[in-house]
Amino acid sequence: YRRFHFIMKPLVVMKFGGSSVADAEKIRKVADRIIAKKEAGNNVVVVVSAMGDTTDHLIEMAKSVTENPPDREMDMLLSSGEVISMAILTMAIQERGYDAISLTGPQAEIITDTSHRRARITDIKATRVKEEIAKDRIVIVAGFQGISSDHEVTTLGRGGSDTTAVALAYALKANVCEILTDVPGVFTADPRIVPEARKMNEICYEEMLELASMGAKVLQSRSVELASKYGVVLKVGLSHEDSPGTIIKEEEVSMEQVLVRGIAHNTDEVKFTVHRVPDKPGVAAAIFTKLAEKGVNVDMIIQNIGQEGYANLSFTVATGDIAKTAALADMIKKEVGAERVTSDENIAKVSIVGIGMRSHTGVAEKVFRTLAEQEINIEMISTSEIKISVVINKDRAADAVRALHAAFELDKAPAV
Ligand code: ADP
Ligand code: ASP
Ligand code: MG
Repeated sequence: YRRFHFIMKPLVVMKFGGSSVADAEKIRKVADRIIAKKEAGNNVVVVVSAMGDTTDHLIEMAKSVTENPPDREMDMLLSSGEVISMAILTMAIQERGYDAISLTGPQAEIITDTSHRRARITDIKATRVKEEIAKDRIVIVAGFQGISSDHEVTTLGRGGSDTTAVALAYALKANVCEILTDVPGVFTADPRIVPEARKMNEICYEEMLELASMGAKVLQSRSVELASKYGVVLKVGLSHEDSPGTIIKEEEVSMEQVLVRGIAHNTDEVKFTVHRVPDKPGVAAAIFTKLAEKGVNVDMIIQNIGQEGYANLSFTVATGDIAKTAALADMIKKEVGAERVTSDENIAKVSIVGIGMRSHTGVAEKVFRTLAEQEINIEMISTSEIKISVVINKDRAADAVRALHAAFELDKAPAV
């Protein structure tokens, strides 16, 4: 009966990001919040990220011994960050007289595919997590890590603790999944760049997914994808105090009707240009097949109008793929008979997102006009049904986001 009683309590998954557990004092505050949630009559499962900039430091450490760290060893290294924070946080909770236990991703049976450094969760058994909940313990799980079908430790890509939290919330049928961080919710733009940005009360999965994919790093895009697929309701809010936050869920008619929901920017892409490629069928196929074979994800592509039988072709890739792409450049050049390949790291992608764009026109025009007024040159453009992205000079990224935020009046509460 006792056991049954614990299982029947509401279950909350709380995820704390790196900045929220950056030092001992913050960890003690996080411990207090977890205990308060437990005291309020919930079962609590916590997902924790590495402390502060630990993951960045670990990457630097690897770079200091090799330029090309093997992915398997990188995963062994990077997964250690979350192991430290889970143990320290658990100790802080125990110190306050509460029963808690830490579990690594593999112990929590977070099963992934075999692609190191950006593994995808394929299954969660969480047998041990459930057993510990049944013992009325607070369970602290290391975020960002899992174990592959080959029994190797894997990591889930930068920001991956969000995805651990959503996956656990789904597997444990949690009542809510709280993503607790250093901002009070999801804003109309990164509040660090746009002080006038407005916190949203709610946003639907589709728009949140697009914002996250386009660089709003408040949530890892995969976490939103997973939440949407399984209908896990997310709440993004402050880690150090209870706040209404932002609810992310299925679109509802009661949600605010707006044309543009928010603006995201991404400064982690590089533009490669293949100069003077023969303008004939099969060239693009040759280039992009090579890149795909090596696992390079190409984002935007643009080909200019051919002149005298030649064209220039530009594409963007994530900065993490620079080395791989540069290594392929020579091969590409020879294979397609191009003149040379250059790269430009000084770019940023700015994206405007909103499902209202489906039924309204004129957004693209307003984006272009606003940027023109700021004398910001557009290097590439791509659109989808609910998004417009432009690639511009990185030095102008903040100006562009601010100008677009003002142009679309995102600082004002939408008229209902
Ligand atoms: P954590 O360490 O908790 O995972 P992150 O640094 O990954 O936190 O994400 C939170 C940060 O995301 C904020 O500090 C903010 O600067 C940034 N951010 C970018 N876009 C947005 C947005 N639209 N709304 C809120 N925060 C955003
Ligand atoms: N510590 C990892 C990172 O910095 C995972 C996370 O914070 O979600 O990317
Ligand atoms: Mg994060």
